[in-house]
Amino acid sequence: MEINVAQLLKSPIGTTRSYKVDEEVEFEGETNPHPVKGDVKLIRTQRGVLAQAKIEIQAELTCSRCLEFYRTPLKLDIEEEYIPSIDVNTGVPVESPEDDSADSAFLIDEHHVIDLTEAIRQYKLLASPMKPLCKETCPGLCVHCGKNLNEGKCNCPDDTDPRWSALTEKKL
Ligand SMILES: [Zn+2]
Ligand SMILES: [Zn+2]
Repeated sequence: MEINVAQLLKSPIGTTRSYKVDEEVEFEGETNPHPVKGDVKLIRTQRGVLAQAKIEIQAELTCSRCLEFYRTPLKLDIEEEYIPSIDVNTGVPVESPEDDSADSAFLIDEHHVIDLTEAIRQYKLLASPMKPLCKETCPGLCVHCGKNLNEGKCNCPDDTDPRWSALTEKKL
């Protein structure tokens, strides 16, 4: 997700631009693009551009019970400062600031373009549940035959006492 900020970099500190986004982002090493929707606000700061994005991404997760892929919307609240790598007025490479925060900062590329994809990827990872469930009530796989019980009952003898199922459920 790329936005050209050349004009914004030439604007006074505090200048704000707002964008509506409704597009797809592709992450390296993943085959399916993710639909992304929401609002992006860019603010000219002393060092560069502060990007604030409130977006919803359709993430693909693997259910921890039935191991099936499922899609679910994740809300991301991104706030990252982007630092220029080239001075927009002179074309001279900008020396990276001395302080430690420069190491983790995102860069505005030599064409004055901000790419939000990497920030979206990182925030998506943070927003993903540790134990994803395709639905709260997902019955998971049969412990005997491995059938996905979302697709219907298997033919294994029903040996679970229903009184214990609540306990078993909690242990999972
Ligand atoms: Zn599931
Ligand atoms: Zn079974």
